[in-house]
Amino acid sequence: MIRVRFHGRGGQGMKTASRIVGTAALLDGFIAQDSPVYGAERRGAPMVASVRIAEAPIFERGVIPAPDLVVVADDTLLDDPAVQPLAGLPPTGGLLMATAHSEEEARRHTGHPGALVARDFLTLALEQVGSAAGVSAALASAACAMLGLSGPAVVAAIGTELEAIGLSPDSIRANLRLAESARAGIQRVELPVRSLAAPRAGSPVVDVAYAPPEVGTPSVTARPNTPLRRTGNWRVFRPVIDPAKCTQCWVCFVRCPEGAIELDAEENPHLDYEVCKGCLICVEECPTGAIAKVREMREWAPSEVTR
Ligand code: SF4
Ligand code: SF4
Repeated sequence: MIRVRFHGRGGQGMKTASRIVGTAALLDGFIAQDSPVYGAERRGAPMVASVRIAEAPIFERGVIPAPDLVVVADDTLLDDPAVQPLAGLPPTGGLLMATAHSEEEARRHTGHPGALVARDFLTLALEQVGSAAGVSAALASAACAMLGLSGPAVVAAIGTELEAIGLSPDSIRANLRLAESARAGIQRVELPVRSLAAPRAGSPVVDVAYAPPEVGTPSVTARPNTPLRRTGNWRVFRPVIDPAKCTQCWVCFVRCPEGAIELDAEENPHLDYEVCKGCLICVEECPTGAIAKVREMREWAPSEVTR
């Protein structure tokens, strides 16, 4: 069985990416299981999706603790101690990342010695489909290439899954062109195939034990959680206010879902980048276009390794 774990943020389409990979595997004749895990639906919040692909029935369930391939939808997740996207990835596993850093920098920063593909899939998505959400089809297609799934299966899977979430035929065609570019030059990676966990004797049914909410959602209910969840590290883009264009209308202050915009004594809006999660609602809502969106790109010191 091959186990693939996707890490992304709410709104980046990693649930759809995992479904595309699972559907492509099914169309290529494998058995596949995909399951996303996220807390309360919240744009920008880290989420995980798991895909298992096998030639025999799959009895494992839940988040994959030791994946064969990890897909990271943006590199800001690498340094989030509450996410740790590389946890459990063996040195022989594969790593696929969307990042504006070079592959060499990504290898140094992650310390991953195995197969690694690091490309600026976000810029590719913005250029080809005009939306950051395109990173979903791009990463799904690249992951399928690393897994050796066939081109026709990937095309059919993207069509099926994007139609299911309501994209127009034109948008699906644009995503298919993007997927083609995204997988160009990516070779199949020989991943160590580990055996299927054996079902218990006499029953293929998996009993999932009940756990009370304070066990099942410790990151939400744990008391010392708030200092760890400064949402400022969720951003892929940062809003930047141009005071010269601001008319002090308060719209951004009222609309920000995180309370990340404060007004000073003269009623000028100011951003708290420790809290701003980069949802860009303020950019959309500002009536004078005074708020620009700027791509986040944190410098990685040469000695800094993420794990
Ligand atoms: S400041 Fe803007 S981008 Fe940041 S959380 Fe508020 S609305 Fe979203
Ligand atoms: S919405 Fe735009 S114009 Fe209004 S206060 Fe915010 S930045 Fe200024």
